[in-house]
Amino acid sequence: MLTVEQLGNLTGKKVMVRVDFNVPLNGKEIRDDNRIVSALPTIKALLEKGARVVLFSHLGKIKWGKVDDAEIEKQKAKNNMEYVYPRLKELLPEYEVKFINATHGTELKEAIDSLSDKEVLLVQNTRYEKGESKNDPALSADWASNFDLFVMDAFGSAHRAHASTYGVPEILKKEGKPCALGFLMEKEVKNLSRCVKPDAHPYVAILGGFKVSDKIKVIDSLLKKCDKILIGGAMSYTFLKALGKNVGNSPVEEDQLEYANKCFSSGKIILPIDTVCADSMDEPSVIEIVEGDIPEALEGFDVGPKTIELYKESIKDAKIIFWNGPVGVFEKEEFAKGTKAVCEAITSNKKCFSVIGGGDSAAAAKQFGYASKFSHVSTGGGASLEMIENDGHLPGIDVIGE
Ligand code: ADP
Ligand code: MG
Repeated sequence: MLTVEQLGNLTGKKVMVRVDFNVPLNGKEIRDDNRIVSALPTIKALLEKGARVVLFSHLGKIKWGKVDDAEIEKQKAKNNMEYVYPRLKELLPEYEVKFINATHGTELKEAIDSLSDKEVLLVQNTRYEKGESKNDPALSADWASNFDLFVMDAFGSAHRAHASTYGVPEILKKEGKPCALGFLMEKEVKNLSRCVKPDAHPYVAILGGFKVSDKIKVIDSLLKKCDKILIGGAMSYTFLKALGKNVGNSPVEEDQLEYANKCFSSGKIILPIDTVCADSMDEPSVIEIVEGDIPEALEGFDVGPKTIELYKESIKDAKIIFWNGPVGVFEKEEFAKGTKAVCEAITSNKKCFSVIGGGDSAAAAKQFGYASKFSHVSTGGGASLEMIENDGHLPGIDVIGE
């Protein structure tokens, strides 16, 4: 697969770069600029090669469908890429950085054509176009007609075959124009590949978060690749119930009990043996550590100390660890101990290659001060899970390499 490094001199070339600037916003304010910062190496390398760099990204969600124009305008105002522009400018002080409030046609074309070498143009939110998420061929053709090259650097969107991640490179490749992976993509692919095809064992996965049904495909895939799967979080109660345990008021996906039972035959599933329970998540008046069955009036919100010790036994000898999903409601101090302990245990094992693939898990590691101690923190939650599920394949990667 072609990489940015391998591209030669790009003077006079117009390059479309699909970045992931889908940053969390608080009104017009950026809460975390990590995604913008992560794209800088690729942007700077292209500029150094003399290119005219045009950045495309989605921002938030625009729900098309049966809503009126006023509603769409409201959603567009909420997800305006113009809010990202000032930070991008600040991060690239040595370059001319422009913004165009258009997403197709003549207005966009003129803005691209008026760029000089080593200039950057940030384009309005790709999801202002209804055709983006549908991989609309007319939209892809309109975008592709402006460019000599395409660079994919939006790992967080690589699991989606949209116009800006798939349609455009598909057209440009057919026209014999170079399509390459950016530095962020290269790093993600290299690191996650070790979780897709482990080159060392024991390979331990830690899965938490909310729903079993969301994670069935990744559990199936991990059961084939891993030596152990440590289950925590709200999804553990479905597994415990399947074993015949009482889980009190904890959430159970009744329709997944049979699936959970099938997983046990692998002998690889490790479940919590004690639970931090309470009568309410938001205003608990009782918090108890319960071993075994959870009483009727209580609900589980975190794994208990004995479970932490049990997890540690597996974590300490692991050579590769993939972690997705907090093992408790880490957002609340009362229920954060389990997730903190998982961070501590993983990062204390200096001999293992450790990867976080999950937005909330990454946020937890960051909040507790462990993020930099992991071997790799993926920028794409959904994308990293799908990459494992699909044995290393994602539409946004495959289209570059096809
Ligand atoms: P990720 O984003 O890392 O993939 P998920 O989105 O699957 O993780 O799950 C994260 C959410 O799961 C968190 O908001 C956390 O509060 C919640 N969670 C974890 N354990 C529990 C539990 N026992 N009860 C309720 N919610 C839980
Ligand atoms: Mg999440």
